[in-house]
Amino acid sequence: FLASLDLLEEEGFDPPAPNRTQDRLDDEIAPMPREFHNTPDTDPALAANREWARRILARVPESDLGTATIAEARIESEGALEEVVERVKTAGDAWGARSAEERAGFVRRAGYSLESNRDRLIEVMAAETGKTIDQADPEVSEAVDFARYYSLSALELDAVDGASFVPSSLTVVAPPWNFPVAIPAGGVLAALAAGSGVIIKPAPQARRSAAVMVEALWESGIPREVLALVDLDEDELGRRLMSDPRVDRLILTGSYDTAALFRSWRPDLPLLAETSGKNAVVVTPSADLDLAVSDIVKSAFGHAGQKCSAASLAILVGSVAESARFRRQLVDAVTSLRVGWPADATAQMGPVIEPPSGKLAEALTTLGPGERWLVEPRSLDESGRLWSPGVKEWVLPGTAFHLTEYFGPVLGLMRAETLEEALELQNTVQFGLTAGLQSLDAEEISAWLAGVEAGNVYVNRGITGAIVRRQPFGGWKRSSVGAGSKAGGPHYLAHLGSWVSDPGEP
Ligand code: GLU
Repeated sequence: FLASLDLLEEEGFDPPAPNRTQDRLDDEIAPMPREFHNTPDTDPALAANREWARRILARVPESDLGTATIAEARIESEGALEEVVERVKTAGDAWGARSAEERAGFVRRAGYSLESNRDRLIEVMAAETGKTIDQADPEVSEAVDFARYYSLSALELDAVDGASFVPSSLTVVAPPWNFPVAIPAGGVLAALAAGSGVIIKPAPQARRSAAVMVEALWESGIPREVLALVDLDEDELGRRLMSDPRVDRLILTGSYDTAALFRSWRPDLPLLAETSGKNAVVVTPSADLDLAVSDIVKSAFGHAGQKCSAASLAILVGSVAESARFRRQLVDAVTSLRVGWPADATAQMGPVIEPPSGKLAEALTTLGPGERWLVEPRSLDESGRLWSPGVKEWVLPGTAFHLTEYFGPVLGLMRAETLEEALELQNTVQFGLTAGLQSLDAEEISAWLAGVEAGNVYVNRGITGAIVRRQPFGGWKRSSVGAGSKAGGPHYLAHLGSWVSDPGEP
C-alpha cells in the first residue's frame, strides 16, 4: 500500500499538504459553518506527511519554542499577579458583553490558528514532555476540535427559554502536563466562548507547550488582555491566585488531592475538575481476544501510561485467565513495543515525564503479595526516564496495585470467576474515570453497562483517546470534583457562567 502511494507520487500525483485546513480557511470562515466535524489527524500513509513529520522531529532535540514567551509570563511578586488579575477581570467583563456570535468567531479562528501551528505544537510537546508524534498529532486535532465545538456551543447559550446566561468575568485554567496542548486549549477556549476572561497557569513541566498554544490563540486575534499566561510557583503565588476572590471559576485537570487542596483554599469557588483515575478493562471469554490485546496494550502504554484515562488493570474473566494464547499475544505485543525518545519517528512509547519516584517507582520495581512479573519493566538508559513496559500478574483484590493510580507504563492483571465479580473489582476503586469491556455477548454488554461506575465507558474499544463530541470526557466518583459536566460535550459551557431567570418568568 505504501509502495503504491510512492508510485503515485512518482507519476506526478501531488499529495495534500499536511496543513490542509489552512487551504480552506477563507471558505470556511465566512459564513461560519454551523455543523461540527472532527478534525482528521495527519495521515502517515502519505509520503508527504511522513516527510513533514521527519522535518519536525529533526528539530526536536534543539527546539526552544515557547521559551521567550514563557519567560515573559514569569510572575515573581504579588504586585505583578494583582495587576494581571485586575486587568483580565476588567477585560473579561468587556469580552462577556460582546455577542455570542462574535465570540464564537474568535474561537473558531483560534482553531484555524492551532491547525496551522500543528507542526510547532508537535515540536514543543515532543521537546518539552517527550510526547511521541503518534500521540502529539491527535492531541493537536483534539485542540482544534475543542475550538470548533465550543464556538458552536457558544451560540446555544442564548437559546434557553426563561433564563439568561451571564458570563463569568475571570476564569483560571490550571491544566496538567500530560496533555500539554489539548487540555489547556480546551479549558481556555471553553471559557472564552462562554464570555469569560482567562488566566492560564500551566503545569511547570509543560509551560513551553502551553506558551506556544497561547501564542497561536493570540496570533488568531484573541486579545492579550482577555487571555493572560502566567508562570508562577505552585506554592505561594499559586495559592494566592487560586484563592483570589475575584476569580469566578476554576477549570482544573489534575489529581484528586490537588483538587481537594484547591477547594480547601477557597471552598466557595465553582470548580470544574477532572481528576485521577484507576481504570480497568474487563475481558470475558466471549471477547475477540485479538482486539482485546491490541486495545489493552494501546490503552495501557500509549504515552507511557501517563493518561488519567489509561488502562492500569486488565481483569480476565474465567477461561481468559487460563488462556495461553491470550497471554502469549499480550506478552508479544508488549515486548515488541518500540520504546524511544520522540525524535525517533519509529518510537511507539516515549519516556516518562521524570525519573519515577514514590508510588510509580515502587510499582515499576517491586511486586506486591502474590504478584509476579509477566513482563518485567527495565530502565533503558542513564536518564532514568526511558522504561520498557511492564505487566504483572496476579494483582489481588484490595492490594495497593488494585487501588492506586500510578501514571506510568505498568499494567496489572487480575482474575475474576464471573463478570459480576469483575465488575465488583472494577467498582471497588474510589475513582471512576474510564472503564472498558471486551465482550461479544449482548447480555454481558448490557449487564456491564448497567453496573459499571465510570464517567467514560467503552465496549470493544480502547479506553483512552476520547474524541470531542463522540465521547465527551469526564469522571464519576473521585475522578471529578465540582460540576460533573464533560469536556467536549453538550453542556460544558453552561457551567462556566451563571443562569438568571428572565424577569416575568416563573
Ligand atoms: N481525554 C484523554 C483521553 O481520553 C485523557 C485526559 C487525561 O489524561 O486527563 O485519553
